[in-house]
Amino acid sequence: MWRTLGQESTIERFSRSIRDNAIHHAYLFVGPEHVGKRTLALDLACALNCDASNRPCGECGTCRRIVEGKHPDVHAITLDAAGTPEDVEVVEQDRRRTRISTEQIEDLQHASTLPPFEGRWKVLLVENADRMSAEAGNRILKTLEEPPPHIVWMLLAEDENRLLDTVVSRCQRVDVKPLPPAQLERHLMTAHGVPEERARLLARVSRGRTGWALSALADDSVAAARASRIESMIQLVQMTYTARFDVSRETDVLYRRDSRAVLETLDIWTTWWRDLLLVKTGCAESVVNVDYLNDLNEQAGRLGLEQIRDFVGKLNTTRQDLDLNVVSRLVFDSLVYTIPRIAKFPVQESVPPDVLQETSETQ
Ligand SMILES: [Zn+2]
Repeated sequence: MWRTLGQESTIERFSRSIRDNAIHHAYLFVGPEHVGKRTLALDLACALNCDASNRPCGECGTCRRIVEGKHPDVHAITLDAAGTPEDVEVVEQDRRRTRISTEQIEDLQHASTLPPFEGRWKVLLVENADRMSAEAGNRILKTLEEPPPHIVWMLLAEDENRLLDTVVSRCQRVDVKPLPPAQLERHLMTAHGVPEERARLLARVSRGRTGWALSALADDSVAAARASRIESMIQLVQMTYTARFDVSRETDVLYRRDSRAVLETLDIWTTWWRDLLLVKTGCAESVVNVDYLNDLNEQAGRLGLEQIRDFVGKLNTTRQDLDLNVVSRLVFDSLVYTIPRIAKFPVQESVPPDVLQETSETQ
């Protein structure tokens, strides 16, 4: 049984490939963070190696060990785990913790030279493949050009544009899309017994990303981390510039230790400012952060439309600058400096009709 929710046409495609013995040597799973790329990839790894007739069964020893990360033929790498604060200087020297390193790819290449130990297929899974160093990308390309038999590469990426074109073209692309919130809400209620109101909130806040909703359900710290990131955003617009630059310094230290945590913060800030744009243009029913509607209304009333729109753009360029390895401290300084200052009194302005139209089209 596939653990993946939704993605029916992809599962059908995989099942057909397995039935016809037409397995591609490399798949590229593309979709937003926490959408379920890893679950789908592991489901495919199970389907390739499962011992039952109806594959993947999810229950045999092979399936269980693959899901638990204990199967000798499934090798996975991801960004290095976050280091301790003492590591920051070391990290600063080689910045490995924000990139998949060449050494990690070499380990997988070494594994690829050996036949499967006990399964039918050896699976080499690269999470955050769009965060490979340029050298690691070139290294993986060599293996994709001359794939050994019985090897399946699975690359997981949020943004395929960050990968080498030559790597993308050698992979079969698999789009992993968020679920419609109503479908996720139903699933949370029926399969996990979540009360309706909480299920609706989780489905909305997760933006249909099953992995996020389920981890928030299992672990209270996920929702607490989101709340803390939103609270810090609410405070930032009221801070003095001196206090903002303190936030920039702390963010930079964290980024060099655990880039994913900071990227997640930026992601939440982006949904917040997009929500402000929606509130400002009279589309409050479409906001993601429904549980903060009062705060959104309060802030939207004290910010100008142009200010909000410009800052949404600034958040996008911040993400691009980090991808391009612009010095992170400069990127964060520029970001906190640009956050609009909130007015003491509500801002009176009318919204031009073309903006209303644009905003509803982007939903
Ligand atoms: Zn099985």
